[in-house]
Amino acid sequence: MHDDHACPYCDLAELRRNAFVLENDHCLLSIKPSETGALEGAGIIVPKAHRPTVFDLTPQEWTATQDLLMQARAYLDAVIAPDGYNAGWNVGAVGGQHVMHAHFHVIRIPFISPTIRNVTGLPAPRPEPVSLLLAPLGLNGLCSPFNRSPYYSSIPG
Ligand SMILES: [Zn+2]
Repeated sequence: MHDDHACPYCDLAELRRNAFVLENDHCLLSIKPSETGALEGAGIIVPKAHRPTVFDLTPQEWTATQDLLMQARAYLDAVIAPDGYNAGWNVGAVGGQHVMHAHFHVIRIPFISPTIRNVTGLPAPRPEPVSLLLAPLGLNGLCSPFNRSPYYSSIPG
């Protein structure tokens, strides 16, 4: 039997804590404020059962992942209107998978690198996207590390 305590993504209560969450019978999407701001607004979709990689998902879990991805997209499009997304699974350590419980990354673009913006000429970032996401949950205070970033110092509240 798998030791749930050894796997952070088997801890569904932790994934739900202070997060924007969507879930269905088989999977859960969690978007948390980042400690560093490095991947602010990045979410993961995990199967509720422990599956080491995407190749271990059941057909029901594939469908459930797609269902949550489409819900997340609809919500993010409505609230943040990102320019685009990165979405996908890393598999194995050499594939960039650091937690060996399958997790589908949903990263809205931009999640914002000033360097990339300068190179590509993209417009200035919209106001604090995770605050917008978490505002209905009353969790704005969790975004303070991100708000303190000098890059965002000109953005009110
Ligand atoms: Zn697990």
